[in-house]
Amino acid sequence: MFTPIFYDPRQSIVDVQSFSKSAGKPERFVQLMQHYDFRSYGPNYGNKLHPVTAITREDLYRVHDRAFVDGVFAGTELNGFENYDTRVPEACLWIIGSLLVASKHAMANPPTPACSPTSGYHHATHRESGGYCTFNGLMVVAAELIAENSKVKIGILDCDQHFGNGTENILKHYPLLAKRVIHRTAGQYFPGDDSETEALEFQAWLHHSIAEINAFDCDLVLYQAGADAHINDPMGGFLDDAGLALRDRTVFNTIKAPIAWCLAGGYQANKCGSLATDPVLRIHHNTLLESNASLKNRINQGTTA
Ligand SMILES: [Zn+2]
Repeated sequence: MFTPIFYDPRQSIVDVQSFSKSAGKPERFVQLMQHYDFRSYGPNYGNKLHPVTAITREDLYRVHDRAFVDGVFAGTELNGFENYDTRVPEACLWIIGSLLVASKHAMANPPTPACSPTSGYHHATHRESGGYCTFNGLMVVAAELIAENSKVKIGILDCDQHFGNGTENILKHYPLLAKRVIHRTAGQYFPGDDSETEALEFQAWLHHSIAEINAFDCDLVLYQAGADAHINDPMGGFLDDAGLALRDRTVFNTIKAPIAWCLAGGYQANKCGSLATDPVLRIHHNTLLESNASLKNRINQGTTA
């Protein structure tokens, strides 16, 4: 079984000047997946590589201040990479579009999880970008789906190493929207100071959070599979390879609702420079393997929301 990936080249900008590699990550991720599994994701075979429709600036206004959005597009407000490069907001329309079409696909095709090879969402607040996040795609997608159907309930399970402060800020700004969304962010609790203890406590937190998300009876869960939770990551992290695999396996096998997942942070250096040696892409590939492997269980458990 294979997880569909929602990708358009316009999601990537390869030469944004930043410590974060996230602007170019969608392209590199898809290239690596084609390398490992050409028959699923290759351009001439690729029935699992799905097209993307861009969102519009109007969609961003649902959860962001209009003057802030317009300023980022005009190059007068800082984007998430702390520069004024107007290619960044234009790419965001495709990046968030990828998460939206992946979400709709997941909801229409349970229990198959869908992958949006995107990141850079959860630090963007109502009025400000920050921490490599320009606009909060998690909240834009949640608001869009709820606008289309007011009965829809969305879960956001954020397993990036860092606190999803932007998501929390937007939920506080829109109380009606907050009634339809349950948000759990690991970064609120695990600073990475004591990796051994936190690795154990994280798995307990994850089970508890998933139980709460299941009890909320979501129509969709957006899962941020952050790579910076790895113990070798320079920006934090306390989970080794086995811990991350257990995290992903637990998510895909115990969340009952349809799942759309994205990549989120990851800052380990790629010393050799090639795709196959990139430690961050390796973590994301492992998430894809867990997503694929979960499908049999998800069907057997009736995890079809
Ligand atoms: Zn992070």
